[in-house]
Amino acid sequence: MFCWLSRLYRGLSRPTRRTTQLIWGSFSRSLVLSSQRRIPELSSFVARTNTCGELRSSYLGQEVTLCGWIQYRRQNIFLVLRDFHGLVQVIIPQDESAASVKKILCEAPMESVVQVSGTVISRPPGQENPKMPTGEIEIKVKTAKLLNSCKKLPFEIKDFVKKTEALRLRYRYLDLRGVQMQYNLRLRSQMVMKMREYLCNLHGFVDIETPTLFKRTPGGAKEFVIPSREPGKFYSLPQSPQQFKQLLMVGGLDRYFQVARCYRDEGSRPDRQPEFTQIDIEMSFVEQTGIQSLIEGLLQYSWPSDKDPVVVPFPCMTFAEALASYGTDKPDTRFGMKIVEISDMFRNTKVGFLQDALSKPQGTIKAICIPEGEKYLKRKDIESIRKFAADHFNQEVLPIFLKTNNNWNSPVAKIIMEEQGLGLIRLLETQEEDVVLLTAGEHKKACSLLGKLRLECADLLEARGVVLRDPALFSFLWVVDFPLFFPKEENPEELEAAHHPFTAPHPSDVHLLYTEPQKVRSQHYDLVLNGSEIGGGSIRIHDAELQHYILATVLKEDVKLLSHLLQALDYGAPPHGGIAIGLDRLMCLVTGAPSIRDVIAFPKSFQGHDLMSNAPDSIPPEELKPYHIQVSWPTDSKTEKSSLNHPCHPES
Ligand code: ASP
Repeated sequence: MFCWLSRLYRGLSRPTRRTTQLIWGSFSRSLVLSSQRRIPELSSFVARTNTCGELRSSYLGQEVTLCGWIQYRRQNIFLVLRDFHGLVQVIIPQDESAASVKKILCEAPMESVVQVSGTVISRPPGQENPKMPTGEIEIKVKTAKLLNSCKKLPFEIKDFVKKTEALRLRYRYLDLRGVQMQYNLRLRSQMVMKMREYLCNLHGFVDIETPTLFKRTPGGAKEFVIPSREPGKFYSLPQSPQQFKQLLMVGGLDRYFQVARCYRDEGSRPDRQPEFTQIDIEMSFVEQTGIQSLIEGLLQYSWPSDKDPVVVPFPCMTFAEALASYGTDKPDTRFGMKIVEISDMFRNTKVGFLQDALSKPQGTIKAICIPEGEKYLKRKDIESIRKFAADHFNQEVLPIFLKTNNNWNSPVAKIIMEEQGLGLIRLLETQEEDVVLLTAGEHKKACSLLGKLRLECADLLEARGVVLRDPALFSFLWVVDFPLFFPKEENPEELEAAHHPFTAPHPSDVHLLYTEPQKVRSQHYDLVLNGSEIGGGSIRIHDAELQHYILATVLKEDVKLLSHLLQALDYGAPPHGGIAIGLDRLMCLVTGAPSIRDVIAFPKSFQGHDLMSNAPDSIPPEELKPYHIQVSWPTDSKTEKSSLNHPCHPES
């Protein structure tokens, strides 16, 4: 028997923008399974003998019972039945003796659930449907049972029918019936299973659950708070199992992993959710390279076989290099357009704003080259790029066209082209129709701006038909040697942990902790895929004294909140390190989904609401009493109180 779960590992093509019929086809096309792989039994313990998607000519003459949803009905003669595995055509009997069967199958509304029993027969010659994996056969029905009738649906269960995301989330259980969501969730399940296999069976990791009712922890993201019945006492939902996994190392568990739920009260963005899942890992007696090799092996092992295989080891780049060349700590390395430092070429420039920039201590001049920019970028694009730079970075951007007559009468650009033209062409390796975007200013700011423009221009070029990023390419990258601390945005005199406060300093920088902590590099590593951070971790501090110094003296945190961890480190904590892979982001990239919400069964909306159940919801005052909590209603807010009276869906 062939099933589409096996197909997921044997070359399933991603079902986007194709008709449902075609898609179901690609799911369950015949395949030869490898002898080692166990084929799951899909019809054990249930009221069917087979799935709709598995029947082929080899089943001719067999008596089968199928259960599924009515997908189509034509002329009261044909009915197409659907389940998670595929589609099959059923012939509605027309003879008088089967009138009751005909009545059930003809009167049941679309999407009703039926059970049919009958014989697998060949389709008449010429009526085979090669696009349908079950297209050579049909079911001659003898009996039928209406298991549940379906009311008029808010939308048709067909992927090509357009619906707003709010509607999809409100009726998520219907949205899940669609082919793409089925694919995404099943592929996710398969990859997680392979990860478990790799970690537990091949490398001896122990799958351990850690609490979700925890306490407030210093630093990091905002936490969700859970009231307790003790006056004024609250649990917090963990941002990650960080402390527990370190404590498990102190407890001698040696190799821990968990498919862990994490909570951060940060609102949703395309790649964030208030609750999300990490593949959380910790190991004792390990160094950075050990964790990196483990993760490379894990991804290679669990990678879907219909994608190009993962090539290891992944390239590695320092944080400083990522910032200088790509303007970000998560570079998209699928394409070039790198930032180039051109300050030296301009030492004798006569252009005022460049002279100004270079006269400052941190001043630099940098540029990126947009290939064929002259052909693809419009004047209004360049104008909006300049406006973006001015509004968000307070920076000037100068576009330079290599053909000087195309400089839109910019005298500055013309002077530069005349004086430094050849140097620019050499350093940026430009060609005739390229456009150079030049900016001047402090290193980090200039790099960040050009990093943003690099991505913006890549999007613009791609929107106009240039292929810059191969959609089949998965470009992994380790970013290492991060600073241990960053200056706080709101008060740059103070420092905050760049990763989290348990990250160990780089061994060669430890002495700087006591003199110039802002210069200390860390043993933190991030894993980047196609310009998204999909994982991060570090070697931890296992020395209680050092941990206390960093928390209390450098970060000025309340160490009492972490006394349990500090104490544990004093009781023979082994050296240890770990990492967490963001499963939702990883799956989003693997499936090519537009948002992580498309790889989560029941995600929250952009505003962090569950549009299906209307969570978060109000609680009547008397039910809040045991928690010693009273709501102080904002005077200008109409929304909060009203949801108690009118359970509406504000985002639908
Ligand atoms: N707990 C960290 C995080 O969630 C990952 C790690 O350091 O292992 O980012």
